[in-house]
Amino acid sequence: MLTYHTAIIGAGASGLFCAGSFSRSKIILDHNPRPGVKVKISGGGKCNFTNRNVTACDYDSQNKHFCKSALAAFGPQHFVGLLQHAHIPYEERTHGQLFAKSAQDIVDFLVQRAKAAHTDIALNTQVLDVTPGTDGFLIRTSTGTIRAEQVVLACGGLSYPALGASSLGPQLARKLNLNLIAQRPALCGLSWPKQLRPLCKLLAGNSTLAQVKTGKHSFTEQLLFTHEGISGPAVLPVSLFYKEGESVTVNFLPGTSVRELFSVHKNTTRKMSAVLPLPGKMAGVLLGVLDKPLANATKSELESAIRQLEQFTFIPAGTAGYTRAEVTAGGIDTRQINPSTFEVKTIPGLFVIGELLDVTGRLGGYNLQWAWSSGWCAAQALAKKI
Ligand SMILES: Cc1cc2nc3c(=O)[nH]c(=O)nc-3n(C[C@H](O)[C@H](O)[C@H](O)COP(=O)(O)OP(=O)(O)OC[C@H]3O[C@@H](n4cnc5c(N)ncnc54)[C@H](O)[C@@H]3O)c2cc1C
Repeated sequence: MLTYHTAIIGAGASGLFCAGSFSRSKIILDHNPRPGVKVKISGGGKCNFTNRNVTACDYDSQNKHFCKSALAAFGPQHFVGLLQHAHIPYEERTHGQLFAKSAQDIVDFLVQRAKAAHTDIALNTQVLDVTPGTDGFLIRTSTGTIRAEQVVLACGGLSYPALGASSLGPQLARKLNLNLIAQRPALCGLSWPKQLRPLCKLLAGNSTLAQVKTGKHSFTEQLLFTHEGISGPAVLPVSLFYKEGESVTVNFLPGTSVRELFSVHKNTTRKMSAVLPLPGKMAGVLLGVLDKPLANATKSELESAIRQLEQFTFIPAGTAGYTRAEVTAGGIDTRQINPSTFEVKTIPGLFVIGELLDVTGRLGGYNLQWAWSSGWCAAQALAKKI
């Protein structure tokens, strides 16, 4: 039977980076035919690999302080330093987001680095089970069983099953008696309730700057109307904090006072929609029957129109689901994990990193930074294991 110092389950962002960060005999196992598949399509093929400004506040978790030490030990500047050293071009965009020129450059960098650190990469190999024993771990795969003294679970979340996501993480958590914080799709669109569906037909494909709020969280960015509801950079981060049954409020004109605009044009025969700086037919569709010449509108009709545009409130029917969610929120409860080494406190030799943990970043490079930070910390601890 093949025996390794470490077996890493998942050749995604965290598994590959972890493998390249310590030099021991190891194998990465992945059922995909290629490594780093999600990284390759991340950031629209340009990979938003980190953000200049990363703090614990950028992450959602039931254990808010858990991510602090890993982010401090290996932050954005460390990953950027590695890319600079490897002469990989990148650029900074808005809000400190750092993008590669091509996501393939990042995949190649991760794979080469892993191979240089004595890593075998076994693709087309589905991991079926992991069993801890007195002499390390047995890993049962679709191509046979291997033994490893240490195992790293880097098999990600449930999002994008078409790219290899599977339920192996939660399945192993249950088997190994690890508490799992309920998982849910996040960084995805929100679907309208039934009564608002007709709006989709009229507005799908249109976008505008909007402020979207749920609970205490609010984001001002582009909002995109889809065939099912709303999506885009203003909505994706809201989906991370949105709780089923709670309402979401949209201001379609942030930074503009609809009241003032109406008052400027109050005696004209122009319709309300004609004085609003919204693209195309959007104002007319959003106002519906409320849209009438300003001179004819009653006070209460004006108030209703202002509310409709500045405080458009609805209870989403749900999220766009795992097929379209960039990440999976929830995961293995971090209270069972050592925050410096990522080793499971109750199972020496077992490590958990990346998206499988209950640590979920906002939109903007934070999730890949988490993959790097957690992978690097685990690697430092694994390097010390005899
Ligand atoms: C469309 C999209 C765009 C994104 N863009 C960005 C971005 O620009 N910036 C950002 O920060 N984040 C982005 N993300 C999120 C980011 O890609 C993930 O958070 C990150 O890849 C998680 O790393 P990971 O190593 O934990 O999991 P993954 O990268 O998902 O790797 C897990 C690996 O485990 C393998 N695996 C699963 N089950 C098994 C099994 N049973 N046997 C063998 N192998 C298995 C999978 O095939 C996969 O290769 C994006 C995600 C998506 C879906």
